[in-house]
Amino acid sequence: MNVHTYATHALMEITTRPPAVFVKGEGSWLWDHDGKRYLDFVQGWAVNCLGHSPAAVADAISRQARELITPSPAYYNKISIELAARLTELSGLDRVFFTNSGAEANEGAIKLARKYGVLHRSGAYQIITFERAFHGRTLATMSASGKKAFEPLFEPKVPGFPKAQLNDMDSVRRCIGRETVAVMIEPIQGEAGVLPATDQFLRDLRSLTQEQGLLLILDEIQTGIGRTGKMFHYEHVGIKPDILTLGKGLGGGVPLAALLATEAASCFAHGDQGGTFNGNPLMCAAGIAVLGEVSPESFLGSVTEKGELLTASLAKLAKQYWLDEVRGRGLLQALALGKPVAAKVAAKAFEAGLLLNAPRPDTLRFMPSLTVANSEIEQMAAILDEILRDMHPAVDPMGA
Ligand SMILES: *Cc1c(COP(=O)(O)O)cnc(C)c1O
Repeated sequence: MNVHTYATHALMEITTRPPAVFVKGEGSWLWDHDGKRYLDFVQGWAVNCLGHSPAAVADAISRQARELITPSPAYYNKISIELAARLTELSGLDRVFFTNSGAEANEGAIKLARKYGVLHRSGAYQIITFERAFHGRTLATMSASGKKAFEPLFEPKVPGFPKAQLNDMDSVRRCIGRETVAVMIEPIQGEAGVLPATDQFLRDLRSLTQEQGLLLILDEIQTGIGRTGKMFHYEHVGIKPDILTLGKGLGGGVPLAALLATEAASCFAHGDQGGTFNGNPLMCAAGIAVLGEVSPESFLGSVTEKGELLTASLAKLAKQYWLDEVRGRGLLQALALGKPVAAKVAAKAFEAGLLLNAPRPDTLRFMPSLTVANSEIEQMAAILDEILRDMHPAVDPMGA
């Protein structure tokens, strides 16, 4: 069957998509309309932490669908209470507000910080964010993002997001003024091409915000839920944020995200925040299933081991083909190619049945399922090796 058989013109055109329509997924594999199989190192954009259609999530939502889908956010429901308790236990934060997307969680974090500014800092409202940051696609989260391509879009932006530079404390200090209430950061800038904040920088940010009475907001939508080998990236660093946002992996593929805060920062009053689908039992049941699988130490240890294999496999290719560098932590990694050929490599990989993401012209990103098999990492590296070899005819991979 041809892809043009499908009425894709009924969808708004928002991005270039390859000529395939996906119909089935299992673990690290996806199948398109023609029955072609793909090894998936995108996984719904680091969303499917347990792979495609994992039994734990499928069982949880089918059981929950028969029990109770949603009673309205105006009422308590048992499943969201259970998931909130589990998340506070794991994170060390005190309160949770569930959302339907990462952007909505960050939008809530921004509102919470502004409310805190009204209550405790004479109306301070500015939130320092970072160049190249990505926090979502609502108007406020696009304004908070530091993505160059967003700059000319949808003017006027939401004001109050001065930009500092990643890993540069002086640039943060220069942004602080009387109107500052918070600093918001991704521990690893994912969409920017997997650019890590150093552990020292994150610790310094924590000290500085504490000294100045500012809130530290960690956007762990991409780095949370085991992605880097700890439940939350900040555990590597030994700090705790005042506000934390989670998304992507939290639902294991379904739309579920969360805004967490310490008791001191949880300052919403009745009427400040809400949403029709927020905290519905169907999605929260998926969250409980995901945490059940991901939170055991043994699972997180296996993510670290697989991350090491992924790093080693990419480092080998980098050395062999004189590429730039490998960046990242756990199962969020990037290969910097040193040349603007990432889109071309990703297109060739697609043809070869491997899904890879090119977040920057010179960078490939790898975000497989946390349950990816070692053999699948090796398979991915072998396909990539062949593509790079074809593109580097001058380099003899045998090292002659
Ligand atoms: C994906 C992402 C978001 C936005 O999440 P959506 O669910 O797409 O709205 C925000 N911040 C970071 C760090 C992300 O990776």
